[in-house]
Amino acid sequence: MAESSIQEKPYFCPNCRSNRVKFNMVTMYSQPFLKDAVTGMVDSTDEPVAVDEQEPNIQCRVCGFTGNEMRFIKQAEREPRG
Ligand SMILES: [Zn+2]
Repeated sequence: MAESSIQEKPYFCPNCRSNRVKFNMVTMYSQPFLKDAVTGMVDSTDEPVAVDEQEPNIQCRVCGFTGNEMRFIKQAEREPRG
C-alpha cells in the first residue's frame, strides 16, 4: 500500500517552518469508468486504484503547503529539532 512508501524520517515544513508533527499524505487515485459513446453517460465504475508514486506528496496541516516528501525531509535535516 501507499503508506509503506512514507519514510520514517523527521519532517519539517519548509513553508511555515513551524510544523513537524501534523501532515497529510496526498495520494493520486486512478478511477476506471466506462462512458456511453452517444449520450456521454457514465455506464459503470470500477474500484479506484491508488497510483504508485515513488515519492508521495506531503501536505502540511498547519499552513496547507503541499510538496514532495523530500522537501520536508531535507528541511528537517537542515534544521533538526534542538
Ligand atoms: Zn507548513
